[in-house]
Amino acid sequence: MAQMAAQTGARNQMRKAGRHFLQIPGPSPVPDRIMQAIAMPVIDHRGPEFQKLGHRVLEGIKTIFQTKSPVVIYPASGTGAWEAALVNTLSPGDHVLMYESGHFAALWKALATKLGFHAEIIASDWRHGVDANAVEARLRADTARTIKAVCVVHNETSTGATSRIEDVRRAIDAAQHPALLIVDTISGLGSADYKHDAWGVDVGIAGSQKGLMLPPGLSFNALSDKALAAAKTSKMPKLFWSWEEMLPHNRNGYFHYTPATTLLYGLAEAIDMLAEEGLDAVFARHQRHAAATRACVAAWGLENLCTEPAHFSPVLTTVVLPAGHDADRYRRLVLENFDMSLGTGLSKLAGRAFRIGHLGDINDLTLLGALSGCEMGFQLAGVPHEAGGVAAAMAHLAATAPAKPA
Ligand SMILES: *Cc1c(COP(=O)(O)O)cnc(C)c1O
Repeated sequence: MAQMAAQTGARNQMRKAGRHFLQIPGPSPVPDRIMQAIAMPVIDHRGPEFQKLGHRVLEGIKTIFQTKSPVVIYPASGTGAWEAALVNTLSPGDHVLMYESGHFAALWKALATKLGFHAEIIASDWRHGVDANAVEARLRADTARTIKAVCVVHNETSTGATSRIEDVRRAIDAAQHPALLIVDTISGLGSADYKHDAWGVDVGIAGSQKGLMLPPGLSFNALSDKALAAAKTSKMPKLFWSWEEMLPHNRNGYFHYTPATTLLYGLAEAIDMLAEEGLDAVFARHQRHAAATRACVAAWGLENLCTEPAHFSPVLTTVVLPAGHDADRYRRLVLENFDMSLGTGLSKLAGRAFRIGHLGDINDLTLLGALSGCEMGFQLAGVPHEAGGVAAAMAHLAATAPAKPA
């Protein structure tokens, strides 16, 4: 113990020049503009200054969800917003249908089960997003209409697969099923295109620390009229999560308990930054960086966990290491030598795979720095690979550089 403490102390004293590379798929690096926006005095959350901020973020966040409906903001991580979506719309014992896109879908199912819902999950191999045909078939078979909600993960952060939510909507409509559509876009919002209204999503769930470029600590429920109607008949006990408690206060710019005031300044700044770049440009940037990363992984001769090109994630790429090579030892060497954090393999992928986050406040050179660290890490760890991954990424970026105004 004493030795460990001494080592930790020594490491803390060692100055590391340059920025830490936080290349995990959330939290993502927080831009200086947002850090500065957050560095504000704490104000009276029932005063006039807060009211302006409240209106600003409650209106602004709708543009990010691409919705006209209310969005509830919680001082909580994404897990809280998962729980909020279920307890506001459902009643004890209700049947929900989920799809096992990966670790996060499985965790959400565990949460639903703990809360006393009958959570059914369509099993899958974690190598692609939601199969909308399987959802449609299950809904058609539910002739008694016992399924109250279809719950799917938009961007599965454990695997690097992005599901086509518009296809899930079509599946529900094709089966003429009345179930709500509840979507976890915790790691999608602000990075992958998400159209709450156009896709007919009833509850959209997001968090602050991924595409929104904020520190952890805020999460969101975007609603629909149908979700609001379901809330009227929901019999789950709730107060902290209750939309019906929150919304009357929100209409005046306030919250029904003390909100995370300083993080909300950051949220206002994040909304401005996304608007300045333009949402479409933000999504295109993520797609381009993801494609460059995949070109790099392919040139290394390594395997992308996601095998369905239509579901390749703009947010992260999960790389499977050759059998016999420990991905966590590799990640440790990268951290120690290059001061870069890569995402660990989650649950059944532990030790077998690592994740490269390419979301949030990232430019071409950030990405190339990250991929260089990965490639040098393979050499250190003795992971067999082809050279030239970074060169392939550079070639992709050069060939697809967005036109600059003259
Ligand atoms: C990060 C994440 C979560 C969990 O969010 P927390 O903020 O850690 O509670 C859930 N689902 C997905 C898809 C995520 O990426």
